[in-house]
Amino acid sequence: MNRRMLLQTMALLPLLPALRVLASSPENTPHMTDISFTPLDHAHDYWRDKVSADAWHILFEEGTEPAGSSPLDKIYEPGTYVCAACHLPLFLSDDKFDSKTGWPSFTQPIADTMGTKRDYKLIWPRTEYHCARCGGHQGHVFNDGPPPRGERWCNNGLALRFIPAEQPLPELRG
Ligand SMILES: [Zn+2]
Repeated sequence: MNRRMLLQTMALLPLLPALRVLASSPENTPHMTDISFTPLDHAHDYWRDKVSADAWHILFEEGTEPAGSSPLDKIYEPGTYVCAACHLPLFLSDDKFDSKTGWPSFTQPIADTMGTKRDYKLIWPRTEYHCARCGGHQGHVFNDGPPPRGERWCNNGLALRFIPAEQPLPELRG
């Protein structure tokens, strides 16, 4: 194997689907909030008049917005990213990074705010994640993110609302 082939092979390694089990260390300590919640059990139609048609498609039909289409991809101001449907805070700006994928990307969600499941819509299985309160699909998590956690939470901008730090968080709804 020549050097070029080796580099090409190495470039594919981050695409491997398995999520590493992270060793517990201070850098890996998840961010917490003091918001507690119980999961909702609404039919998907409940949310139709509360979000845009495009956002509803992503959240409740597991759609994906085109890369580079979300203004949130380029936002790095301090603040909180809440679920576009139920307003549960899901990500903090401290954990946002430029993945250059065209989707808003984070190194971790706020602790205990996401449910995950495997999906098989592409050649490789991926780990889908969704808001743990309303069940709305948010994105997929990959293991090619920056250290120390090594995770890349690749999110649809339409599934989030950005709340700048100087503004109060919206009330949970639903
Ligand atoms: Zn939600």
